[in-house]
This record gives sequence, structure tokens and C-alpha cells, in this order.
Amino acid sequence: MTFSDLPAGLANALAERGYEAPTPVQAAVLDPDLRERDLIVSAQTGSGKTVAFGLAFSAQILGSDGQVQSTGKPGALVIAPTRELALQVSRELTWLYQNSKARVVSCVGGMNPSQERRELKSGATIVVGTPGRLRDHLERGTLDLSELAAVVLDEADEMLDMGFREELEEILDAAPETRRTLLFSATMPRPMEALARRYQRDALRIATGGGERGHNDIAYQAVTVAPSEIENAVINLLRFHEADTAILFCATRENVRHLHATLQERGFSAVALSGEHSQSERNQALQALRDRRASVCVATDVAARGLDLPNLSLVIHVEIPRDAETLQHRSGRTGRAGKKGTAVIVVPFPRRRRVESMLRNARINAEWIDAPDREAILAMDRERLLKTLLMPVEVDETDRKLAERLLNERTPQELAAMLIQAHRAKMPEPEELLINSPEAQAAARKERQRPGFDDVVWFRMDIGRQQKADPRWLLPLLCRRGHISRNQIGAIRIGPRVTHFQIPRAAADKFADALGRTAGDENGGDVHIELSPDAPQDSTRPSRNNGPSAGRKKGASYAKKPHKDRPANSPERNGVPGKKPKPRKPKKRPV
Ligand code: AMP
Repeated sequence: MTFSDLPAGLANALAERGYEAPTPVQAAVLDPDLRERDLIVSAQTGSGKTVAFGLAFSAQILGSDGQVQSTGKPGALVIAPTRELALQVSRELTWLYQNSKARVVSCVGGMNPSQERRELKSGATIVVGTPGRLRDHLERGTLDLSELAAVVLDEADEMLDMGFREELEEILDAAPETRRTLLFSATMPRPMEALARRYQRDALRIATGGGERGHNDIAYQAVTVAPSEIENAVINLLRFHEADTAILFCATRENVRHLHATLQERGFSAVALSGEHSQSERNQALQALRDRRASVCVATDVAARGLDLPNLSLVIHVEIPRDAETLQHRSGRTGRAGKKGTAVIVVPFPRRRRVESMLRNARINAEWIDAPDREAILAMDRERLLKTLLMPVEVDETDRKLAERLLNERTPQELAAMLIQAHRAKMPEPEELLINSPEAQAAARKERQRPGFDDVVWFRMDIGRQQKADPRWLLPLLCRRGHISRNQIGAIRIGPRVTHFQIPRAAADKFADALGRTAGDENGGDVHIELSPDAPQDSTRPSRNNGPSAGRKKGASYAKKPHKDRPANSPERNGVPGKKPKPRKPKKRPV
């Protein structure tokens, strides 16, 4: 069977879409011997199953001329578990039937019910909806199933799992017995078997595309991280892959909200999808992804079920899925319709065993790797930058004149450097990750405990990576401001906007005094430095007692014993050495 054997309206729609040949599941359901049969189909996610059932019931709703001979009452009904999935199915069937005079109407929880009523009233050929809303319409008499010739239950196992058995039974009981029933389901648990026995006649089972387990187009990676480093690892994964569209899965709405905010703050164009968003917010988020205004979607499992986003090539399991089934559903958002995709599971060290066993159960071979570090990302950036900048360009007359003017004013080297900087400025900064195994972290911790640094106080300063903070110029600045030597500065942690560093407790008083006195001086006096009230985000802190907040109360000295000679206006009396200068913007670097 090829698409050209189909009625002209359908064949044309598929051709306009650029679909040349049926996928395996489409070829299977289009077998001419199965035109009237009830089917139970398990096809891998992304296999083209929506078009498959859309074509399958064409035999029931199109006349011999390939067009709908409508009475205005629905001929086909598709029931899907979630609003997003139902709307997606509805969109897919709309283009598929655009040349066949079919009207597709969706009835979906969270959308305007009176508009749906009006649309149903003015005639629908195919109705697509979620179980609860369809039942409402049925009970109110606005959905008339008396002429239904085919019904499809999409992700039937999921609908039963979600507790929609009653709704499904009520809807199926209201349809004529002569109708065709098609069940699409990844698994065949007992309640599904019962449903099939009761509502189908002599159903044929079809499994295609490597069966329910196959995700042949998805490469799996498991990335181990320190538990405190999950967000940084996610940022680096996004930066490393630079997917057109990526989806990130979290376990709860709260975690979605938090990660979404973090990513936005770091400069990613991200949207969020979870149960706390209204239907219209969710639709807007999906639209932003479809028309590339956003490239990252942070979602909960329920919100992202069954989503088909074009160009989605990266799935990140930010929090480990609760079981192998969820792992596959989430991962199946990529690797669709023959395209390649990557699914990355972020694994905090203590959960490694659990993930290994989940992967074994799902018969998935994952590559265990470290999260990409800053250097790897910058190297990748350089490659991509060269590729982009060396692409052929078409130059029109206006641009050519502009280019000539620039070349008169600047050297080609300067212009090339500016071009590179402009491109780079669009990319969020990669994160500095901790060394990536418990043993390596312990070793690093030991190494950092230089003599004299087993009892330290943390300070912080209000410049970070965004201000291009770098130990090469921070060290001389701190020495100048705090009247200490380089050897008296311990670990330095550079964050996006703040840098933490250690000073031996014995030198901390002297350091703070000097800070107060040098505040406002030239050469770094405008950098605000103070005792840090909280630890830098770093689980490899030398010891709990050495942390920035360890044992230091406002007004107390950093030394073990109170310092008798401390003047009353000593800067660190309130933990703020010197007056706080205006927020600084990076200026001339002192190197
Ligand atoms: P689904 O499994 O229904 O979620 O479909 C996954 C994606 O495959 C959708 O974007 C479909 O439009 C696309 N698709 C369906 N059938 C074909 C086909 N025969 N050739 C290429 N792409 C297809």
C-alpha cells in the first residue's frame, strides 16, 4: 500500500506535507483486508500513529468519491488522555482532511465549552477530545454519537491509568454497536484487556516499529553529577547540545517553576508547562516553541504527555523518572518520525544504581558520561561559530556599501573580532562544574586544604563571571584592598554575579580592617567585599565548620577571641566593611 492508493484528497494532503511513504504502523493499518476490522495497535511513540488512525478510519467516513458525505453528525471520534495531545491530534487531522470536506472539532477540558457546543451544532465529521469534556457534551446532549462509524482510543493505557475508565465506558456505550473500535496503546495491562474484550469485536493486534520498546532513533546518555550541581549540569547540557528545541522534565510543578526561572535568568528562551498553567498559557508556551521564539520547555510528565514538537532533538530528565515507562514516554518526545534525538538522564551520584536498574528493565543501553564542562562547551562554541560565520552570504547593494564603510573605518581583523563577540554575546555563559565523582571530590577537598587553611572565613565580593571575574586579576585586587599576600587567599569560587573566597581565620580581622580603609580607593576600591552570610553553592566546602556562615554573628570578630583594640566603627561590626558603593559595572580590568 502506498499513499497514492488513497482517495485523492488524502493523498494530496500528505504530498503537500512532504510525506512520501507510509511509516510501518501506517502501512500496517492500511492493509486493505483490515478496513473494517477492530484493531489493537502498539506502535512506538513518534511512529506516525496519528496519521495512521486518521487514515484507518477514512474508509468509514469518506464516500466513494473520497469526500465526506456528511449528515453533520460525527462519523469518527478520537479520545486522547490530555488536552495538549487532543489539540495536537486535532491539528494533525485538520491538515490531513483539509481536501476532503471534513470538519474537525475539538472538545477539550479547559477550553471554552460554549464555543465547542456551537461548533458541534454546526456539524462535525471528526471529533477529538479528552474523556471528561466529551462525557460532559454527551450528557448535555450536545454530542450526538448516533452515527458514529469509528472510535479511536489514543494512549488507551494511559487514559485507564489516569482513572478515565468510567468516562470511556460511558462514551463507548453511547456509540452504535456497529462502529469500528481502534485501540492505540503502548502496553496491554489487564484493565486494557478487559476494555478490549467488552468493546471490541474480534480485534486484531498489531505491533510495529520494534514494538513498544524500540526507541531506535534516540541515543541515551546518563550523566552523573553531584546533587548540588544538577542545575549547573542542565545549563551546560543545554549549552553543549544547542538543540533547536529541548524539553526538560521535572518531577513537580514547584521544580518546573524554579528551573524555568533559573534558565530565564541565565538568558535561555524558556517556557514552562505544568498543571499550574491555564490552558491558554500552555497553548501560548507550545506556540512559542513551534515558532521558535522559545527553545527550551521545562515540563512535568503530565503536561508533556504525547507532545509532538517539531525539531525537538534533546530531552533532559532533570529528575529521574518514576519508572521505565515514564522514562520512555518522556524520551519519546524526541527521535520522532525518523529524526535522531538524544535523551539525557541527569543522575545524582546516590541514585546511580536505581537508574542502572531502570535502564536494564527498559532494555536501554545508555552511555555513562560526565556533564560537559566549560572548556568542552567553549570548544564546541568555536566550532559552531566558525561554521555559522563561514556560511555563504548573499550581499545586497545596501549591505555592500555598509560593509565598505566599515572596512574604511576598521581593519578586517577588528571587524572579524567584533563579529565573533557579537555572536558570543548571545550565548548564555556555561557553568563551572565540580569534579565529577565522590572520590575525585574528596581528593580535591584534601588538596585544597593547604596548611593554614583548615580554619577559614568566607568573604564575598559583588563581581562574578558576568563581570569577567578571573583569579588572575582578583588576586592582586584582594591583596591591594585587604593588605594581605596571595598565599593568604584560599579557595576562590566564581559565581555568575558574586565571587566567594576564603581567608584564614587568623588573618580575617586584619583583612576586614584593611577593606574598610581601602573602600573607595582607586584600583578596585569600588568593589564591594563583605563577610559572606551563606555558603557558595559547593558541596566540596572544606568542612562544615569552615563555611562562610560558620559561627559568625553580626558584630563579632573573625578571630577566635574578641579583638580588644577593634575601633567602635570597625567595618565588620555589622558585617559590611566600609560603605556600600553603587552597583558596579565592569570597567577597565586591573590586569
Ligand atoms: P505521531 O506518532 O503521530 O506523534 O507522529 C510523529 C510525527 O511524524 C508527526 O509530526 C507526524 O506528522 C509525522 N509523520 C506522520 N506520518 C509521516 C510520514 N508518513 N512521513 C513522515 N512523517 C510523518
